[in-house]
Amino acid sequence: MSKNCPICTKKTTIKFTPFCSIRCANLDLSKWLEGSYSFPTNETGEININEFENIDDD
Ligand SMILES: [Zn+2]
Repeated sequence: MSKNCPICTKKTTIKFTPFCSIRCANLDLSKWLEGSYSFPTNETGEININEFENIDDD
């Protein structure tokens, strides 16, 4: 039963099977969560800089 970590391909640790560490286990979990949740892609998050420049206008 010598499997390798699916994240970093290192030797797995029994405690964190099938991963090598809690770090990789969390990485896989976050990947899984990203895949299941469909966040709407918001690419229009730019701030209008001109509005801030007007603040210093004496
Ligand atoms: Zn790993």
